[in-house]
Amino acid sequence: MLKTHSCGELRPKDIGQTVTLAGWVHRRRDHGELVFIDLRDSAGLVQVVFNPEVTRKGHELANQMRAEYVVQVTGEVARRPPGTENTKLATGEVEVIAQGTQILGPAKTPPFYINEDVEVEESLRLKYRYLDLRRERLRDNILLRHRVIKFMRDFLDARGFIEIETPILIKSTPEGARDYLVPSRIHSGKFYALPQSPQQLKQLLMVAGFERYFQIARCFRDEDQRADRQPEFTQLDLEMSFVDEEDILNLLEELLSSLVEAVAPHMRVIKPFLRLSYDEAMERYGTDKPDLRFDLHIGDLTDIAAASDFAVFRSAVGEGGKVKGICAPGCATYSRRQLDELTELARTYGAPGLITIALGGDAGRSLEELTLDEVKSVAAKFLTLEQVREMAARLGAGAGDLLLIAAGKPGMVDKVLGELRLEMGHRLQLADPNLLAFAFIVGYPLLEWSEGEGRWEPMHHPFTAPRDEDISLLDTAPERVRARHYDIVCNGCELSSGSIRIHSRQLQEKVFRLLGYGEEEIEERFGHMLEAFEYGAPPHGGIAPGIDRIVMLLAGEENIREVIPFPKTQSAVDLLTNAPSAVSEEQLRELHLKLRDE
Ligand code: ASP
Repeated sequence: MLKTHSCGELRPKDIGQTVTLAGWVHRRRDHGELVFIDLRDSAGLVQVVFNPEVTRKGHELANQMRAEYVVQVTGEVARRPPGTENTKLATGEVEVIAQGTQILGPAKTPPFYINEDVEVEESLRLKYRYLDLRRERLRDNILLRHRVIKFMRDFLDARGFIEIETPILIKSTPEGARDYLVPSRIHSGKFYALPQSPQQLKQLLMVAGFERYFQIARCFRDEDQRADRQPEFTQLDLEMSFVDEEDILNLLEELLSSLVEAVAPHMRVIKPFLRLSYDEAMERYGTDKPDLRFDLHIGDLTDIAAASDFAVFRSAVGEGGKVKGICAPGCATYSRRQLDELTELARTYGAPGLITIALGGDAGRSLEELTLDEVKSVAAKFLTLEQVREMAARLGAGAGDLLLIAAGKPGMVDKVLGELRLEMGHRLQLADPNLLAFAFIVGYPLLEWSEGEGRWEPMHHPFTAPRDEDISLLDTAPERVRARHYDIVCNGCELSSGSIRIHSRQLQEKVFRLLGYGEEEIEERFGHMLEAFEYGAPPHGGIAPGIDRIVMLLAGEENIREVIPFPKTQSAVDLLTNAPSAVSEEQLRELHLKLRDE
């Protein structure tokens, strides 16, 4: 090695030793005669002093060094002079008195500061990702990611799971997204698909008798990007035989809570994990991935609204819609402008408008004492005091609070209020940043009707088993069939869906047919799975929590790009290597491809 010690490991016990270090110039300070360099390597920082009386040549070289130069230094570890210790630094009691040095790699001036946690435009950070990764925040995130994955591996290994790799070049497997395709050179006109997940293969591993499988699996989905999505992402993919829902959920609860304890002990987990039915989640939080760190639930006001004289409410109810609301605590004093902002937000989620009711008066007064003059709302004239009190009571509101009410189609109302709930939670800082509110969502329907496609689509994927007692409804009332499907969510983020799977050919074929697949297509796309089920398939199930999202939550980041070493932009571009990029005519020819003009 070009070094005997790491910069970050030196302590008072090393005083008197001669060491050789190698790393990056983190900071350089010129104090007249003496030059100080904070030398950084992967283990941390240490201060190096260049004194011309100790080494003239070394001092000259130190004068040439600039930020991010890679240098090697040999010198003696000494105690820092009293009063100059740096308590913020692990090595802050010592320094290295340089006796000799060498510049191993000079550096151009970096496009942004490595040694300061300043805001830098993201495209610049992505283009120079190798410099961005030198910064403390990203380095810590990548270290955390390593620890998370290591923990998962050890945890599952100790429980008899074995890690099995599955291929990247496979046949398309539906997870509801578009495939990334790879043209075959050898088979003209044919394509591999990159796996949207190893779903079919892990099920086949169960048929193969492995019983407990996991993989740190890369998945590829060509879909619109969001803060918590990337074209390729990593899942902890797992599958077990001879289990039911509880076995999987218990395993997951133990895995995730012990993971947090091990790698992010400053974070608190609510245990046991919360459980909600899908209907309850939609009804109370307007989404099946609620942030449960705070309550602020949605309340149904339809019956009260229907009895009022307010035209907006009456017409919504008349058209079969709903009137629902949430309480924004302490926001009765919101200005016109603040209310307009919330209305605008509601509009972006599809609401025609937002009805606000401010309950005046000092907080703590009972609703009984509320008078009609204290109620500020466009609807006030059309509501009785009793109706306002009833609405407030249902939303848990009191004097000083603001009611936000949406009226219209149930799906839209839930969506709008779900978003407003998050907005208010954010504005009022209701969510404890050190709390992880994991929750299992259960009781999903098996299918959902797609208006656009005019057919049933699976809520999860087509391999999910219906509940045994609902199987007969597949023929008569598919919308009522409940699935053996569960989701795990945390702080408003969906970590994973999973399910107990179908393991009989007959039932699987029936579900494929219900989803609109023709016989030929079933055989062509899934014949291998169906056949496998005829050779002794065990009951099985699994789940695949998203590792990027878990690390994001543990790191307190709001975007998964911050925990992925080399992520792509929102428009799926890799700014470091400039992928995707054009290929040569020759490569196209080899792949039997011709580009279209349109
Ligand atoms: N393959 C599923 C997914 O990617 C997870 C599972 O059902 O295990 O969502």
